[in-house]
Amino acid sequence: MTMSMKLQVVVVVLLAATAGSARAASRLNVITATEDLASLAREVGGDSVSVDSIAKGYQDPHFVEPKPSFLLKLQKADLLAVVGLQLEIGWLPPLITQSRNARIQAGASGYLDLSQSCQILEIPTGQITRAMGDVHPLGNPHYWLDPENGRRIAKAFADKFSDMLPARAAYFQQRYADFDGRLAKAEKGWDAQMAPYRGRKIITYHRSWPNFCQHFGLVVVDYIEPRPGIPPSPGHTLDVINTMKRENIKLVMVEPYFDLRAPNSIARAVDGDVAVLLPSVGGVEQVTDYFKLFDYDINLLISLFQKHK
Ligand SMILES: [Zn+2]
Repeated sequence: MTMSMKLQVVVVVLLAATAGSARAASRLNVITATEDLASLAREVGGDSVSVDSIAKGYQDPHFVEPKPSFLLKLQKADLLAVVGLQLEIGWLPPLITQSRNARIQAGASGYLDLSQSCQILEIPTGQITRAMGDVHPLGNPHYWLDPENGRRIAKAFADKFSDMLPARAAYFQQRYADFDGRLAKAEKGWDAQMAPYRGRKIITYHRSWPNFCQHFGLVVVDYIEPRPGIPPSPGHTLDVINTMKRENIKLVMVEPYFDLRAPNSIARAVDGDVAVLLPSVGGVEQVTDYFKLFDYDINLLISLFQKHK
């Protein structure tokens, strides 16, 4: 046996020991990249998991400023759940490496990429260039905004938790079934509320809403960002105003973390409104879970659709 083979054996034995201790624990320590994933993990994890999110729902999930406290969270995690599709590429990978936690490295059993369980839109075809924008190179990462994807995320958590804590598998699957039932009921209500507004046209700042709009039948005609991650230019702002006038669009939806100057000037020019629509749980204080997120956004949208009949 060579020295490097011996080292490999030692590493494998150490990794197995770490994994074993996590499996023996009665409660899983789950860290999620975003508050949306945290909310869904809590739905199925109940009292058998503790869940904490790194990014806050009022932050742009593409650009989160790393803090030392994030490292502490990652060092203790049994499971790290990420949105994936490079949403977190600007801030999370170095933290994962620095945590030196073998359980949560990409590809390890304690690393869960939820994009692999969901329907993903806007997957680029052909050659990808930087000119297309910087932040959505593998498809749209804001996929949790369709309740069907929320259901798939919850199911992926239930299955992962069951693998990690087999003694509690029945509990996790029962909690998933309960969540699925409550989500189906809520969805029926949301679909009915939104039904009169199917086909309505809106402008959004960033491409955060394709899954949401596909589900509820809204049409995003243009974006204040000319390309994902690229701030608006005066020329593009003028194009958006002309499009809105031509198509009689009155609503500009802005995520909570963008500068309101361009959206406000656009809305003024078309006699319309700017609305801060929340892409994430925690976007405002009272939106504390996945259900309240849809309640909030749908109520806000409907109030504006009614104002601009
Ligand atoms: Zn994005």
